[in-house]
Amino acid sequence: MSTLRPAKITIWYILRENALQLIMYVLGAALMGLAWWPLAILYLALAAATNIFYMYWVCPYCGHYALGACAAGFDLLSGRRFRARLGRTFRGQFRLGTVVVGLGWFLPPLAALVLLIVRFSWVILVLLAVFCVVAFWLLPEVSKKHCDGCETVDCPRRPKEPRARD
Ligand code: SF4
Repeated sequence: MSTLRPAKITIWYILRENALQLIMYVLGAALMGLAWWPLAILYLALAAATNIFYMYWVCPYCGHYALGACAAGFDLLSGRRFRARLGRTFRGQFRLGTVVVGLGWFLPPLAALVLLIVRFSWVILVLLAVFCVVAFWLLPEVSKKHCDGCETVDCPRRPKEPRARD
């Protein structure tokens, strides 16, 4: 989730950049709700909580957050209220933040697999397939584009060579 923000940021730009993730959460809530309807609400609450945790745990260690240049708008959404702690690094914070936010990726397929075993349905199978395409293919592809424009050199996800000086 990183790229330089265009000069004029709008709420529509942020929504567009987060659209796939929002679609994934809606699909995930639908799958969880098919298991037991309150799970859909709990899943959406978990999605919100884990993203807030990510803003608190990871974002303050990212240059885009401090510079107000986060394409996902996490600096705006959090009001930049979270502060980095001395001695911590982006690399050190990233792994736990990714595991926590990753719950949103893995809980719906798990629920769908259980449902398919106990009461197979084509609706669940199709929802699962669409969820997996969005979560495990489209989102990583979009995120690659973001990563290409990011200067966070100690990112463990896509390490970058330091740029050669002119
Ligand atoms: S502030 Fe940095 S780490 Fe946080 S979402 Fe934006 S680009 Fe990603």
